[in-house]
Amino acid sequence: MSESEIPSESPLSEDGMRVAKSLVLVNTGHGKGKSTAAFGTALRALALGWPVAVVQFLKSGDWRVGEESMLRKLGVDWFAEGDGFTWDSENLDESAALAGAAWEKAKSLIDHGAHRLIILDEISYALTWKWVDTDDVVSVIQHRPELVNIILTGRDMAPEVIDIADTVTEMRQIKHAFEQKIVAKKGIDY
Ligand code: ATP
Ligand code: MG
Repeated sequence: MSESEIPSESPLSEDGMRVAKSLVLVNTGHGKGKSTAAFGTALRALALGWPVAVVQFLKSGDWRVGEESMLRKLGVDWFAEGDGFTWDSENLDESAALAGAAWEKAKSLIDHGAHRLIILDEISYALTWKWVDTDDVVSVIQHRPELVNIILTGRDMAPEVIDIADTVTEMRQIKHAFEQKIVAKKGIDY
């Protein structure tokens, strides 16, 4: 990265604005658009040549194939169950084990600091169900390398995470095709 890209920690300008070295964003709410907004931001990061990583906290199954294949082609490091991290499910509920393994992966990526944008997709459920320790997530985010931007997505994001985020957006559902019994549409919903 070029030196000019990273402004030094400058004193407040006359208008009181300052430059942050990185940001924490939360996309939450019950409306559609949380993950797709995160992936849209990934395009902006990629345009700058930033290394980008995505960690998925829920099983993706057949859906998500669209954005995953395209973002991988663009060089995004994509980590999902069975591909990027695995777990020993002997003693644990499978979802809990998956979430725990996803968080271990995410934590090592954040601490390593090689990616300028890391998307923790659907992490909120792992916090809600206490599969992942919220205090640990907050601490790792707060102590992250200074140039690492993080986006966390998912409904009902833990208030502790919202507290430490810089930008929090709640997608509010006004209508969703699903309510009219319209099934998820490939190319639009996945
Ligand atoms: P997207 O991935 O489209 O940005 P999202 O991340 O906001 O959606 P999720 O809860 O992760 O929402 O759900 C992902 C999938 O479920 C997408 O196919 C999305 O269209 C669909 N979906 C999102 N919100 C709703 C809803 N309120 N009712 C039914 N399906 C929904
Ligand atoms: Mg989503």
